[in-house]
Amino acid sequence: MTTVKERTKPVLLPELCKGCGRCIEACPKHCITLGEEINQTSGLVPVVIDYDVCNGCGLCISACPEPYGLTADGYELEDPAKLFGAAPHHGRTPAAIPGRAIPLPKSEPLVLKGNYAAAVGALLAGCRHVFGYPITPSTEGAELMASFLPQLDGAFVQAVSEVATVNHMYGCGGAGLPVMTFTSSPGLSLMLEGISYMIGAEVPAVFINVMRGGPGLGNIGPSQADIKLLCRGLGHGDTNAIVLAPSTPQEMLDLTIEAFRLAFLYRNPVFVAPDGYLGQMTGRVQLPDHMLVPGIPGWAVYGDAAHRGNLINSIHLSEADLEKHNEKLQAKLARITANEQRSHTHRADDAKILVVAASTPARMAKSAIEHLRQEGVSVGLFMPVTLWPFPIDALRPLMAHVEDILVVEASAGQLEDELRLAMSHADLGGARIHHLRRMGGMLPQEPEIRARVHEILEVTR
Ligand code: SF4
Ligand code: SF4
Repeated sequence: MTTVKERTKPVLLPELCKGCGRCIEACPKHCITLGEEINQTSGLVPVVIDYDVCNGCGLCISACPEPYGLTADGYELEDPAKLFGAAPHHGRTPAAIPGRAIPLPKSEPLVLKGNYAAAVGALLAGCRHVFGYPITPSTEGAELMASFLPQLDGAFVQAVSEVATVNHMYGCGGAGLPVMTFTSSPGLSLMLEGISYMIGAEVPAVFINVMRGGPGLGNIGPSQADIKLLCRGLGHGDTNAIVLAPSTPQEMLDLTIEAFRLAFLYRNPVFVAPDGYLGQMTGRVQLPDHMLVPGIPGWAVYGDAAHRGNLINSIHLSEADLEKHNEKLQAKLARITANEQRSHTHRADDAKILVVAASTPARMAKSAIEHLRQEGVSVGLFMPVTLWPFPIDALRPLMAHVEDILVVEASAGQLEDELRLAMSHADLGGARIHHLRRMGGMLPQEPEIRARVHEILEVTR
């Protein structure tokens, strides 16, 4: 008598199923459907199999991309250490592979556009992975990277969108590699969800956001109207990141190098936020005396034997765990606030009127202040270099003699809001706050600043 051996039916391991649905498409008997219940271990919704209809063809097992999501009958969930080998560091973070500095020969200053200066800065900081979606007025940075990186064993990928860009950056930064993008205001808006994930998962990356006129598509003129987004709105959750505001092509280079250092020091994205004019402005740029070859941090999910036991994610399903993680992140942000405030001043030591301005408006203000000083006006300049954290510690001593503050900016008061918030938290009051604002791709001009200072003098003296 012949016996018919029944074909083995697939076993679904719900805790490993991602619910991607590939098995549903593969099944000729249509006996797999999307489930309705969240698996408590994975937080995902696994599929369900109707075994009465299943004929055991096994096509779903071949289609499943998840190791052991679907497997043959008789399988028992094994210890991952047996499947993939023991985690190499048994729960301890492996030692970092240190980076190194390579001395550079002394060179004459270059004459570079701001966007190019930022790109050169990134190359000197060791960045060899750039993802991006072209958007004016930031595109030159990405163009330069696209032409240089293939010659430097690096990779430039023009992603299908800003959403794809930020997720490529998440993966690359998670591997411990210096990664960056060049973008501009509408592009940044699209990246916010991924940025929140990166802050949650503590993934370092550098974003050069060359601000243009908005809202909406707006135009390609210079603007500072992303300050609120950068300082207060980096995606969902309690998110913050260092925001650097360069004011010269030299600072575009220097602050981009610094941005990579800070991103890895704090395991957090860092933003370099020039207005669009600065991205396009050409100026003298002196290269540093060394460049960097980055190492691999101990925490990185790099994929080599030492690092493959690492895991990076931003999901904490237990409320208590997530609160603890948030407390850790907030403690880091408090350290950043205490240690990373940066600013410049110009003739501010005895000023009764203090102009507060960043990036190109600060350049305009500096020139206006020279003229006003020649007229005998007691006026000085305070330039925040970190828009977040606002450099309130350097402002505090100036408030002993400042009677009026004039905030000059290319937005409807976003820098002023940062100033007011920082002053309020620091219990700094006393000075009257005035403003000069341009919008829509227009920058405050030097004669306007002088005229506004004279108006203040007429009203208050
Ligand atoms: S074994 Fe074949 S019939 Fe059964 S669920 Fe998988 S694909 Fe469908
Ligand atoms: S293919 Fe695998 S991971 Fe995807 S839904 Fe099916 S069982 Fe789950």
